[in-house]
Amino acid sequence: MTNNNIYFVANWKMNGHLSLIKRLKNVVILSNNKKYKKIKIIYCPPFTLISKLFDKIKKSKIIVGSQDCSYEDNYGPFTGDVNPKLIKEIGAKYVILGHSERRLKGDTNKIINRKIHAALKQKLKIILCIGESLKDRKKNKTFSVLKKQLLLCLKKINNLDNIIVAYEPIWSIGTGVIPLNNILEHDISKIIKFLKLKFKNQKPKIIYGGSVNPENIVKLKHIKNINGFLVGGASLYENKFVDIIKKTTI
Ligand code: PEP
Repeated sequence: MTNNNIYFVANWKMNGHLSLIKRLKNVVILSNNKKYKKIKIIYCPPFTLISKLFDKIKKSKIIVGSQDCSYEDNYGPFTGDVNPKLIKEIGAKYVILGHSERRLKGDTNKIINRKIHAALKQKLKIILCIGESLKDRKKNKTFSVLKKQLLLCLKKINNLDNIIVAYEPIWSIGTGVIPLNNILEHDISKIIKFLKLKFKNQKPKIIYGGSVNPENIVKLKHIKNINGFLVGGASLYENKFVDIIKKTTI
């Protein structure tokens, strides 16, 4: 882990309901505890739950994000789309882009790049997900895939000030399988090296996502140069999420 801020992103995907929001008491308490002042907790529920979530976390340091946005940067006849302006307006600060589950629904690197530009224009912060499939990994193509995603998604982006890169091997998402620490450390160091070269003198923020849970966090937290975790399934359970945060920071 780094000595800087540590990010914990809760990605609820297409899950969650009002009763889940009512059960965030312990995360709220933790976020206000001075002992955890370096921790940044970002909840990304479905769009429909964002305002209800705000009501619940008003007195906390929890930050809210969305799980996607449109690349249209203005209002208009785009049924079903939610643009960054609307997301900003409701008070969210972050947006997850490039998640493999969105890529499966048709988001290409080019589309993700357009979304990043539109979101940055509204001063939203980006959590850009990249990751290789098992097939890519078996063919030793991991880094060439990651490099292509980074190059295309970050086209015409000048700095990383408002961008966190989430490295999420697709084969690890929701499967319970995580990479070995040395492999993860190796891949993350390559991502950092590449980003440092592309964005001169900038310090990239990299988080890991893929089946993070209260058991494997004890191992994962030892990965060098990591700035936190993106948590899917386990973030739906307040006790597990709190456990992950606490175990990372002791
Ligand atoms: C994710 O949603 O990006 C994710 C990492 O999910 P999970 O933690 O369930 O693998």
